[in-house]
Amino acid sequence: MGGFFATALKEDCVFDLFYGTDYHSHLGTRRAGMVVHGRDGFNRAIHNIENAPFRSKFGSDVHDMEGNLGIGCISDYDPQPLLVRSHHGTYAIICVGKINNSDQLISQIFKNGGSHFQEMTTGEVNKTELTAALINQKDNLIEGIQYAQDVIEGSMTLLLLTHEAIYLARDKYGRTPIIVGQKEGEGFCAAFESFSYLNLGYKDYRELGPGEIDVLTPEACTCLVKPGEKMRICTFLWVYYGYPSARYEGVSVEEMRYRCGSALAKRDNYTTDDIDKVAAVPDSGTAHAMGYANESGVPFSRPFVKYTPTWPRSFMPTHQNKRNLIAKMKLIPVHELIDGKKLLIIDDSIVRGTQLGETTEFLYESGAKEVHIRPACPPIMFGCKYINFSRSNSDMELIARQVIAEEEGENVDRTILEDYANPDSDRYHMMLEKIRARLNFTTLAYNRLDDLIEAAGIDKDKLCTYCWDGRE
Ligand code: SF4
Repeated sequence: MGGFFATALKEDCVFDLFYGTDYHSHLGTRRAGMVVHGRDGFNRAIHNIENAPFRSKFGSDVHDMEGNLGIGCISDYDPQPLLVRSHHGTYAIICVGKINNSDQLISQIFKNGGSHFQEMTTGEVNKTELTAALINQKDNLIEGIQYAQDVIEGSMTLLLLTHEAIYLARDKYGRTPIIVGQKEGEGFCAAFESFSYLNLGYKDYRELGPGEIDVLTPEACTCLVKPGEKMRICTFLWVYYGYPSARYEGVSVEEMRYRCGSALAKRDNYTTDDIDKVAAVPDSGTAHAMGYANESGVPFSRPFVKYTPTWPRSFMPTHQNKRNLIAKMKLIPVHELIDGKKLLIIDDSIVRGTQLGETTEFLYESGAKEVHIRPACPPIMFGCKYINFSRSNSDMELIARQVIAEEEGENVDRTILEDYANPDSDRYHMMLEKIRARLNFTTLAYNRLDDLIEAAGIDKDKLCTYCWDGRE
């Protein structure tokens, strides 16, 4: 995924930029960068944050930077911000999104006279560089941004810093957010996460709509392109990605998670006769589990806790096996809360199932009598096409698709997949039973999509639910 922060102030903006960007550290694990524009022009720093958090990597850069306009990012893949010299002048650019038609766009740019792209070690072209090349195909920046967002298949939200202003462009369908804050008399900021600017003295100003383009200066936030009608904001922002204190489209992440847990509890109707404790896979399952516990009246407890002091969130290797091992090493059991207990565990979702299967084994080994699993969202049936949902690369990595393939083969008709996604169908219940048996859960029940949408409190047509129901 990735996150970003931008600030345009009458005075120096480096302090705000540094902490505002740092508050997005939960959204990316590999690269981070900041660029400011000041008396000496552009000044940029990019670092690898796989082994150390943002603040320790950028602490010394802050002393060398000065300027009143700046943008910063936390990125999962591409090194950015990129500095681009073009017929629009020099600008810095940050992108959050996914480009599914890179090869086609690159060929088109070569045909139009573009000469080369730098290839990253992964063999792919940096998506930020590609987006900049698309922007440079047009005569002015705004037309260029709109053109890039139109031809990119996937999603694209971007920030662009020139020597005099910061352009904000939210994805055409608003898959990812941009929210603007204001510091009275001093200037404006823009962020992915709304909470990131509150402790820096900004107040909520407004959220950009889908496809909207604004320009920020220390004096004003001006809308240049009005928002479009159609919106498909990522529902996973609330379920998993967002920090608990964030808010999208006016809906609090923490509160939405309570409502998810509450919906699961209402469907179960469990009491202390059925289960002893409600618990969460920390940290993203915690608020969902609190919602379940409050609704059911069954006490919440922490039968395992994360050892966090020496395991910063940003230390997460990209190789899946290592990620699983580290996720396991971070969890420490509290035996007294597990031994002989019937536990109901809530996780945000089940993707491959590997981690949750191992956690369940770990609970049985620690003496648990029963382990009931309640994911806070429905079975994931389709890999995400719109943002870099880094936890799955192909549909067949998804446990739901694996058990369907056992029954139907790998090439399954779309209508059959839709039937598997329907929580009232026989196929759905068969799929759940197979997943339950494979991962050795006592019982398994997922949150239903209708309950999830109700928990978000936003019109279904405005939400992206593709990974659960395949709806474009
Ligand atoms: S497919 Fe899923 S993860 Fe991807 S944008 Fe849609 S809701 Fe979010």
